[in-house]
Amino acid sequence: MRDHIETICVQGGYRPESGGPRQVPIVQSTTFKYDSSEEMGRLFDLEAEGYFYSRLQNPTCDHVARKIARLEGGSAAMLTSSGQAANFYAVFNIASCGDHVVASSSIYGGTYNLFAVTMRRMGVEFTFVSPDCTEAELDAAFRPNTKAVFGETIANPALTVLDIEKFAAAAHRHGVPLVVDNTFATPVNCRPIAWGADIVTHSTTKYMDGHAAALGGCVVDGGRFDWMAHADKFPGLTTPDESYHGVTYAEKFGREGAFITKATAQLMRDFGSMMSPQSAFILNLGLESLHVRMARHCENAQAVAEYLQQHPKITWVRYSGLAGDPYHTLAEKYLPHGSCGVISFGVKGGRTAAEAFMARLRLGTIATHVADARTCCLHPASTTHRQMNDAELEAADVSADLVRLSVGLENKEDLIADLDQALASL
Ligand SMILES: *Cc1c(COP(=O)(O)O)cnc(C)c1O
Repeated sequence: MRDHIETICVQGGYRPESGGPRQVPIVQSTTFKYDSSEEMGRLFDLEAEGYFYSRLQNPTCDHVARKIARLEGGSAAMLTSSGQAANFYAVFNIASCGDHVVASSSIYGGTYNLFAVTMRRMGVEFTFVSPDCTEAELDAAFRPNTKAVFGETIANPALTVLDIEKFAAAAHRHGVPLVVDNTFATPVNCRPIAWGADIVTHSTTKYMDGHAAALGGCVVDGGRFDWMAHADKFPGLTTPDESYHGVTYAEKFGREGAFITKATAQLMRDFGSMMSPQSAFILNLGLESLHVRMARHCENAQAVAEYLQQHPKITWVRYSGLAGDPYHTLAEKYLPHGSCGVISFGVKGGRTAAEAFMARLRLGTIATHVADARTCCLHPASTTHRQMNDAELEAADVSADLVRLSVGLENKEDLIADLDQALASL
C-alpha cells in the first residue's frame, strides 16, 4: 500500500519501536561505540550498515533523508549542510575534471556561480541552454564527455517552468541522467522523478524548512538510472574505488543504492558538508506541515498576483498561475496543484519607485530570502545584483524595476491591503 504525500510528510521516514520516542530523536553525538574493532571494521568496508562517525551518517539525518526520498518517490537520499552543497555533490558525484554538463540557463544565481566559475576552475565545463530551447538545440549542446543535464523545476528568481520530459528525453538519448533542483515546487507540487528525472536536489532552507530557521540541502536518487549500461561514461560508479577497498558501487549497491552510497562514502567523507542533527530535527518539523503550507502559499500568491496584474502602477507580473503567463501551459502540466509562493513584478517608475514601494510595506519585510512563512521581498537591482549597471541587469533578465515577492502564510486580504497602501503612496 502506497501512502499519499500528506501522510509521508507527517509520518514518513521514522517509525518508533514500542516505548521509543514518538518524535524523531536528536542523536547529538559525533561518534558511536562498538564492542570490537572487527565489528567497526565491517562498517568501514561497507560490509555492514551502521554508524561510526556523524560526518558520514547520523541516525537523525537518516530518518529525515528517508522521508524526503519517499516524498520524491526516490530510492535513497542524503542531507547536506546547504542547497549549494546538495547541487555540488549531485553533479560532482558523476562529473569531474575533463567532463562536461548541460545546464538550463534559467537557474539560481548561486548555482550558476558554482557551475560557471568554481566548478569550471575544477575542470568541469558547462554549456547553458535556454529552458525554452528546441530539441535540436538541446541535442547540439551535448559532447562526447557530457555526464549530466541540470535544470530547476521552477527557476529562482526567473520563475520559468522546466519542461522536465523534454530535458529527461534529451539526457537519456545521450546516455546521461537528468538532475532537477526541485526547491521551489517541493514534492507536494511536483515530483520530477515521476516525469523522468533521475536525481532531485533541494535547498531545504526554503519551503521544506519553511520558517527561515535552518540552512540545509538534500540529494535524492530516483534509483532508475542504469549506470552499468553506460559504464564507460561513469567509471566512478562502475569501476573499483581504490579509496574504498576496491568496491564497485554500481555492482555492490545496484541502481537503487549506488549514487547515494558513493556520494556519502567519497564526497561527504572528503568535503564534510553534512547537516547537523539539530538542523535535521528542525527541517523535519517543517516537513510535517509542508503539504498544508504549500497549498496556502499558492492560494495567497495567486490572489496577490491577480491583484497586482490589474493595478495601474504595476507594469508586468510573472507568476505561472496567471492565465497569460508564458509558462502557464507548462505549469498546468507539471504543477496542477499550484507552483509556489514567489512572484516577480515591475513597478512603474523603475528603480526609485521599486525601492520606495518596498520601504512602505508593513507586512512584506525586506530580506534576502524566499519561501518563508512570513511575506518578504527583495529588490535585486539594489541588493543581490547591485554590482551590475542597468544594461547588465537587462542581459541577466533582472530589470531595474523588478521586485521579487515571496508570499507568506498571512491572511491574503491583509497582504493585498498592505500592497495597496504602499502603491497608493507612490
Ligand atoms: C536557495 C537556493 C539554492 C541554494 O541553497 P542554500 O540552502 O541557500 O545553499 C539552490 N537552488 C535554489 C533553487 C535555491 O532557491
